[in-house]
Amino acid sequence: MGGCDVTIIGAGLAGLQCARLLARKGLRVLLTDRKQALDQKIHTTGIFVRRTLVDFDIPPDCLGPAIRHVTLYSPALRPMEFASEHDEFSIGRMGQLYQRYLQQCLLAGVQWLPETSYLGHSATSGKLTVRLSTGEITTSYLIGADGARSRVARDLNLDQNQEWIVGVESVFEGAAIDGPPRLLCFLDPQLAPGYIAWIAHDGEETHLGVGGYAARFDPVAALEAFRARVSRIVDLKNAKQIERRAGYIPVGGVLQNIANSNGMLIGDAAGAVSPLTAGGLDPCMRLSAFAAQVVSEYLSSGDPSALEVYSGELFRARFASRLWARRLAATFRQRQLLELGCAVLRFPLLNRVARHVFFGRGSFPDVGLLDSQPCSSHAKIC
Ligand SMILES: Cc1cc2nc3c(=O)[nH]c(=O)nc-3n(C[C@H](O)[C@H](O)[C@H](O)COP(=O)(O)OP(=O)(O)OC[C@H]3O[C@@H](n4cnc5c(N)ncnc54)[C@H](O)[C@@H]3O)c2cc1C
Repeated sequence: MGGCDVTIIGAGLAGLQCARLLARKGLRVLLTDRKQALDQKIHTTGIFVRRTLVDFDIPPDCLGPAIRHVTLYSPALRPMEFASEHDEFSIGRMGQLYQRYLQQCLLAGVQWLPETSYLGHSATSGKLTVRLSTGEITTSYLIGADGARSRVARDLNLDQNQEWIVGVESVFEGAAIDGPPRLLCFLDPQLAPGYIAWIAHDGEETHLGVGGYAARFDPVAALEAFRARVSRIVDLKNAKQIERRAGYIPVGGVLQNIANSNGMLIGDAAGAVSPLTAGGLDPCMRLSAFAAQVVSEYLSSGDPSALEVYSGELFRARFASRLWARRLAATFRQRQLLELGCAVLRFPLLNRVARHVFFGRGSFPDVGLLDSQPCSSHAKIC
């Protein structure tokens, strides 16, 4: 199979973003995924927040119509409305987006191996031999973009995720909901223990999902129960289910030890997900851009100190409040308590906090090259 500078395991959003950026810097990149095609077995709803859409080159034709409205439902289905004067969210057409980024990778010279699983690696005299299901490759650096339960993390002796929620959703075409495109979030300790159930509806696609701590519910049964519970809110009579998606979401915050001289972690493998909202797409884009910069500096200088900036320690401090909020969310197990929590959200101060969670611009810290500039002023990182 020959050799390359960087081998990336996993072609989700994190792997694709990092591969295309590294290849554009002139590095020889090998990208592998165990999937046969990237539009199969997708495990994200694909809701992008405004900050990502402003800062990164997500092709408009890979996005659904903009969403400005959020409705938060209490366990007793009492709604609370939030509206923004901006386009806040778009639901990505993720299969299409992955394929588009893959095309960009190929144009930039990335070597692509689908249906190829990572099996392990060994290190000798500054080079790594990576064992794949289709053969072996020699590489200078290994990047684990292999998701929440990363095997690469374990093999590189880096930190591994320890805390997850699980999410499962059905995707429909032809569903009807009154009013403009919106996100509907449902707090319910039985159907979504420690997280939320959701309907994400942009007028074209509708995603119905539940998420929560795996030990506290049966996600598939909860999704069926949720569908029945919201039958008056979303009309699925003429709807066609086009997909079922599911996956693990790490919510313990960015891991501390995410790089060494043999390799590093990006995306879910690095725990780069907001512990409170469980949003991981913005962190994928941002951390992978930073990783590409750090790896190219390290490989061109050969100086291991170039890797010191790539430490979860730097991000964790800025996640402290969201980690506390996650601990709090995990403790709400009683309906009455959650109902009371929703009632107090109507007070102006707490209402502003809720608005900030939905519409704030703090999903993942800007790192490295972005730190010195306000978001609006830097060019798209593409
Ligand atoms: C149900 C659900 C809904 C979500 N909704 C949202 C949302 O709306 N907005 C948001 O911001 N975040 C959301 N998230 C979180 C977000 O989707 C993830 O944080 C993000 O997609 C992670 O991307 P990734 O590239 O790191 O990992 P992944 O997308 O998991 O990609 C990892 C890739 O690695 C491959 N792989 C794994 N092991 C191997 C191996 N041994 N060999 C080869 N390949 C391998 C896999 O096939 C996969 O393609 C959601 C998560 C779930 C589960």
